Amino acid sequence: MRHFRLVRLAAAGLMFSLASAVPAKAEQLAKTAFGAQALPAATEPASYGFYSKGCFGGGIAIASDGPHWQAMRLSRNRRWGHPDLIRLLEQFSRDAAADGWPGLLIGDISQPRGGPMLTGHASHQIGLDADIWFTPMPARCMSVAERERVSAVSMIRDGTLFVDDRRWTPAHEAVLRRAASYPQVERVLVHPGIKKKLCDTVRGDRSWLRKIRPFWGHDYHFHIRIGCPKGSVGCKAQDPTPRSDGCDKSLAWWFTEEPWRPATGPEKPKARDVMPLSALPAACQAVLKAPSPASEAVVTLTGSGSQPAIASAAPAMPLASSQSADPAALLLSLQPAQVPLPTPRPYR
Ligand SMILES: [Zn+2]
Repeated sequence: MRHFRLVRLAAAGLMFSLASAVPAKAEQLAKTAFGAQALPAATEPASYGFYSKGCFGGGIAIASDGPHWQAMRLSRNRRWGHPDLIRLLEQFSRDAAADGWPGLLIGDISQPRGGPMLTGHASHQIGLDADIWFTPMPARCMSVAERERVSAVSMIRDGTLFVDDRRWTPAHEAVLRRAASYPQVERVLVHPGIKKKLCDTVRGDRSWLRKIRPFWGHDYHFHIRIGCPKGSVGCKAQDPTPRSDGCDKSLAWWFTEEPWRPATGPEKPKARDVMPLSALPAACQAVLKAPSPASEAVVTLTGSGSQPAIASAAPAMPLASSQSADPAALLLSLQPAQVPLPTPRPYR
């Protein structure tokens, strides 16, 4: 008996020394830390870093249902964003409804505290990006299961780079025009075929086409990106879009073989899959550690006129200094700074 105990003690000692001999734990991945967050940081609203490398505090959610919207894929818990974006989405849903669009189907926005995600999206990290389906909202309230299962419909004709004219309607043009109409919206990302359709058909004021930017994917949904909110001094702005309507050789490039050429050589890991926590702005560590609000309900915008209370009640959190310009961050972004530009074939 005593012998057994001694062996056990020795074994425990060995385990202990093995454990202490293991080198310092590999650095935590940002996607794991941020993907685990169920609620936002109860801080003043602020976005930190860049669209494809950052986080945000003081986020609020858009309700899963509103008068003019339904949020999709509820299990992902990506209905969160900077309050400026969430309020804009509510306004957009009202304006689009007044224009005759039946209502918005809202796709991914951000995780509660932003950051890289376990799946999908290079951007959507600082609470300033939102995906809206090209499929209009149905007249009935979809079940939670339907919202997981139902697919959006591509606006692009199978096997081509051009819009399917059986699906494209003037209402699709109008909803994109409305999205681009807000001063805070800097970019609306769409498939190049959709951009071309607008270039070919929009009459009258074409100035808004400047914000409509061709990009891979985005045939099932369009992507709204707002600029850095006032007060978010740690938010890194994008390069401004060119002044022209973009219906020029930069668009023609998308209809060459180059952007669609399959990648050669070994596949590189996606940035979000290898990004350590330390790659994010220092403020993102504080965002992770910040307390949560009392419940999801108190930080959810319902569209019934009530406002989430969090912004006024939030304790102040020190703002991070602006990150220095990082050219790699631009490549990681959903949006190339200039077109044409050789970029890695991205993922949606
Ligand atoms: Zn998106």
